[in-house]
Amino acid sequence: MSQTEHALSITVIGLGQMGGNMALTLQAAGFEVTGSDLFEAARERLAGLGLAVVAPDALPASDVYLLSLPTSAHVREVIETSPGLLALAPKGSVIVDTSTSDPAVSRELAEKVTAAGLHWLDAPVSGGPKGAANGTLGMLLGGDDATLERVMPMLEAMSAKRTHVGGPGSGHVVKLANNYLCAAHLLTTAEAVAMAAKAGVEPAACLAGINSGSGRSAISEVNFPEWVLSERFDSGFTTGLMRKDLRLARDAAEQLGIPLALLQAVVNAWHASPEQPADSDDFNHITTPILACARQTESHS
Ligand code: NAD
Repeated sequence: MSQTEHALSITVIGLGQMGGNMALTLQAAGFEVTGSDLFEAARERLAGLGLAVVAPDALPASDVYLLSLPTSAHVREVIETSPGLLALAPKGSVIVDTSTSDPAVSRELAEKVTAAGLHWLDAPVSGGPKGAANGTLGMLLGGDDATLERVMPMLEAMSAKRTHVGGPGSGHVVKLANNYLCAAHLLTTAEAVAMAAKAGVEPAACLAGINSGSGRSAISEVNFPEWVLSERFDSGFTTGLMRKDLRLARDAAEQLGIPLALLQAVVNAWHASPEQPADSDDFNHITTPILACARQTESHS
């Protein structure tokens, strides 16, 4: 990582799996970074890793406020009320929401942020905690060109791939579309692998075949080998967060007047059993009940 000093000062709000790693990556790249989290344990963990941390009521004046929060409700709270960036942030500073948020809320907040003399960018990410830790995230960007240009050095330090998809909220729209497909591919790939196992083909051999053909996806190429077949289930993304993303995608489709039958079926499958997997389990565990029949086949062979 470069130790070059960068002009932008950045406050990262939300020091969880993603935000904590993003803050450390930006600091290692030479930015002046301060971290904040509602929970003292999260602040202490990052302070132990060398990050300057402050309580939410002691945020410094910064050029950028980078949010990595569970839901739009948390984003709204941080922007509007507690601590209330609308009133606290210096005029001209940029609020960058990297959370997977509700696009309708993002568009509403973007208007308020702009009216307060600040700038808005939605920048939801993929690549998990590992991508956040080594600066190789994929980012979907929603905002205007001038704001994008202003924070580009920061985005470049965090990501390997950046796709500007439109104005405020657009990044969050496309992120929901992406996560819908990711959630669906976990189900369909598990069913395909289970079917092949029942027919006497090893899961690894089945995946090798799929990955050489047109049915492949990031799920078959990355998730299955790294987290499912290895049984490591340590991707850092929880089932609860994916369920949230699916509900947001379903609600967005309904609000747009296009209820989507397959999307609803995927939402139902992910909510069929609140304990299998539990919200706190790795999201790749959604394949476990489907693959159970494949494992029975293996043990009988
Ligand atoms: P996380 O639960 O690990 O971290 C969220 C952090 O926000 C927690 O430390 C929490 O204490 C803090 N927080 C909550 N409310 C707060 C407030 N009002 N002020 C300050 N801090 C507050 O979640 P995560 O896995 O890091 O995910 C963050 C966002 O990124 C989510 O929207 C998620 O959907 C998205 N995302 C996660 C992944 C992943 O692999 N984990 C990948 C892509 C996108």
